Amino acid sequence: KKRVYTFGNGQAEGKADMKDLLGGKGANLAEMNLIGVPVPPGFTITTEVCTEYNQLGRDKVVELLKPEVEQAINNIEKLTGTKFGDQENPLLVSVRSGARASMPGMMDTILNLGLNDKAVEGIARKSGNEWFAWDSYRRFVQMYGDVVLGMKPDSKEEIDPFEKIIEELKHEKGIKLDTEFSVADLKELVSRFKVAVKEKTNNDFPVSAWEQLWGAVMAVFNSWNNHRAIYYRRLNNIPDEWGTAVNVQAMVFGNMGNSSATGVAFSRDAATGENVFNGEYLINAQGEDVVAGIRTPQEITIEGSRKWAKLQGVSEEERREKYPSLEETMPELYKQLYATQQKLEDHYRDMQDMEFTIQEGKLWLLQTRNGKRTGAAMVKIAMDLLREGKIDEKTALLRIEPEKLDELLHPVFDTVAIRAANVLAKGLPASPGAATGRIIFFADEAAKFDETILVRIETSPEDLEGMNIAKGILTARGGMTSHAAVVARGMGKCCVSGAGALQIDYKARTLTINGKVFNEGDWISLNGSTGEVYEGKVQTKMPDLSGDFNTILEASNKYAKLKVRTNADSPKDAKAARDFGAEGIGLCRTEHMFFEGERIKAMREMILASTTEGRKRALAKLLPYQRSDFEGILEAMAGYGVTIRLLDPPLHEFVPHQLATQRELAQEMGVGIEVIKAKVDSLEEFNPMLGHRGCRLGITYPEITEMQTRAIIEAALNLKAKGVDARPEIMIPLVGTIKEFRMQAEVIRSTAEKVFAERNDRIDYKVGTMIEIPRAALTADLIAAEADFFSFGTNDLTQMTFGYSRDDIGSFLPVYIEKGILKHDPFQVLDQEGVGQLIKMGTEKGRTAKPELKVGICGEHGGEPSAIEFCHKVKMDYVSCSPFRVPIARLAAAQAAL
Ligand code: PEP
Ligand code: MG
Repeated sequence: KKRVYTFGNGQAEGKADMKDLLGGKGANLAEMNLIGVPVPPGFTITTEVCTEYNQLGRDKVVELLKPEVEQAINNIEKLTGTKFGDQENPLLVSVRSGARASMPGMMDTILNLGLNDKAVEGIARKSGNEWFAWDSYRRFVQMYGDVVLGMKPDSKEEIDPFEKIIEELKHEKGIKLDTEFSVADLKELVSRFKVAVKEKTNNDFPVSAWEQLWGAVMAVFNSWNNHRAIYYRRLNNIPDEWGTAVNVQAMVFGNMGNSSATGVAFSRDAATGENVFNGEYLINAQGEDVVAGIRTPQEITIEGSRKWAKLQGVSEEERREKYPSLEETMPELYKQLYATQQKLEDHYRDMQDMEFTIQEGKLWLLQTRNGKRTGAAMVKIAMDLLREGKIDEKTALLRIEPEKLDELLHPVFDTVAIRAANVLAKGLPASPGAATGRIIFFADEAAKFDETILVRIETSPEDLEGMNIAKGILTARGGMTSHAAVVARGMGKCCVSGAGALQIDYKARTLTINGKVFNEGDWISLNGSTGEVYEGKVQTKMPDLSGDFNTILEASNKYAKLKVRTNADSPKDAKAARDFGAEGIGLCRTEHMFFEGERIKAMREMILASTTEGRKRALAKLLPYQRSDFEGILEAMAGYGVTIRLLDPPLHEFVPHQLATQRELAQEMGVGIEVIKAKVDSLEEFNPMLGHRGCRLGITYPEITEMQTRAIIEAALNLKAKGVDARPEIMIPLVGTIKEFRMQAEVIRSTAEKVFAERNDRIDYKVGTMIEIPRAALTADLIAAEADFFSFGTNDLTQMTFGYSRDDIGSFLPVYIEKGILKHDPFQVLDQEGVGQLIKMGTEKGRTAKPELKVGICGEHGGEPSAIEFCHKVKMDYVSCSPFRVPIARLAAAQAAL
């Protein structure tokens, strides 16, 4: 078995389509070699070895790898004319992780590996730059100490021991910046670092290059299982089994003086999708300096640089002097970089996110990948590439992640509210959107209030979880490629970064802006599209959608086999969904309307009635409400089917449980409080979701079914009289046996006939059922013989197939996920393996009994892309989901068919 793939000097053993084995970074490093882009030579240890490492442990894996790694190192030595572990002419390498899917900043990186007290002198002589050599060495000891030797503190209160030493020495020397250290200071730092390592780990810092290398490789494997990597995988549905590859590459140095630089570049704008080359760089700096947000990076292009200066209020003169673009400082290299990014984008036919280093006037690419982007940029880039003829329509559709369309449906500031708002500060527009929330300063407290804004000097990968919970992120330091910015864009979360006016005091938990003090819990608002920070809570509203958005949805309809309906309970929701392209209502939960205004009174009266007569009197009061509700909904969806479900929830949900409200009700109804209490008590059940609900209500109280049917049919007839095409479909919930269905269908049909006779008019209507009890799926053929349609209620079907209470899963779900029993919450992501079998069987059995049977899904899974793909496979007719998920479902339906 081959475990190591080499690349360098225009040759490579791997290529771009080997991402599973080599990880994204490794596959692209190989590919870049093959297409003639300059890449420092190196090799990739496969993702399979990561899995082997987890099974076999360190010693065995080192033994397995040794021959191939030695040969690969030898290959780099030959190409670079250096020697690994040598004192005079040492080969230095970087060691980086690289999973199949990019997980930016989630795992660890080590640079300058191969240095020790002797080799550093060799590098100093060779480069003629002692300061650079010692600076590289002290960075290496620090990185290696933190990542491999476990020097990094676990708690957020403790600062990194190496940073502490740096601060101490700065204090002793009376200096402020790292760059002010003398060579002697750097030597002093290294020596103090080593003492700290010895103190904490009881071991000397490793001198042997090989020992360093194996330590680093294993640390990368270990980082696959660190907390933030695991969290990132959960968030992005990346399987734990994939493992990470390890990339070992000859170092190139961006910190070798003023003809060296390092940076990050994008072939298009990752925030807006505009086709403009952009990025940031720093002269005389090493890779991590740009992303770590320690120095403020400069723009690569003149245009970008001018824009940045304007945003920051920096004059053109000052800009040219202090923050010039790469286009100005190194015009020849800028040209090369520009040509390279074009070559890479043309080759991959997608927006590229690249890392580069310039070492003494020579350009090297360290990485390229399809760039992370906002939802808006995703749409624009796909459609632009289509218009440019670089990709075809199907590819364009497949490029769009359905879930990310959601971002385009997220709020922007209300235009009037924002005019009145007071701008406190301005940072960089790191990730678009609008957010408002209460200030918190620590990521692990992001859930402290309902809506929070995470305010940090800068963020780090440990903050990921909190960043996901917060409504928005605000940082005092860092550029457009800082951790906060990159991660927020990936999440589609509003972020303003590098707002220099912010003074943050973590200890006091205060934020001071131009002398004004804000405390934890105070409201602020962010505009991630302009970089503005506002005082207080600013009203937000939904954005206007671009033309591209509709073009995509229209193109989706060309390919999709599944129709998309919506779950809606009001005319307003129905209209909103229709605007998004919903073709009908798949589930109208009638009971949702019972809580509005006077309706609840009549409902309670019905529940409290102890005789059929009493119930009928109360139901007669409900009838006009229901009828007008249905008229509104059927009219909003005119021309399309509207599935209206009969009353489903257990009745106790409609009665008051607090003494005060019970008293009010008693007064209203003119009865004693004990009557109310007794009734409420009698409705109590041990397992209400498995109790007296669904069609069990209609069977015990047929008059409820009668009233609802009458309301639906009368509404449809009223609309017909107005010339509106109303198409009601009456749905019976929670059916488990054909007899239940038959009895309820009989009530519905006879009631409808009665209304037709009264009105001397008729309309077409359907009678169907939810399939949400396993027994219904198992006997679907019997039910289909009498039903016009099926709608899979996967919420209840999941509940009853797993035997997990849908309301109480929270207490054990995290444990189940952590222990790997479940990969996801099955109420969010359809369990295709188990619940899916019932759906497949139910659909097939149903269609054997009635080939024209209409089948859909209306549980929460109806808007979830993986479930939609499944529904396509089992040949359902439609999926139904909440209005704002309709666009997502339309695209997912098309992708399932492509
Ligand atoms: C279902 O069970 O999937 C469903 C759609 O109905 P409800 O969530 O109202 O029980
Ligand atoms: Mg249900």
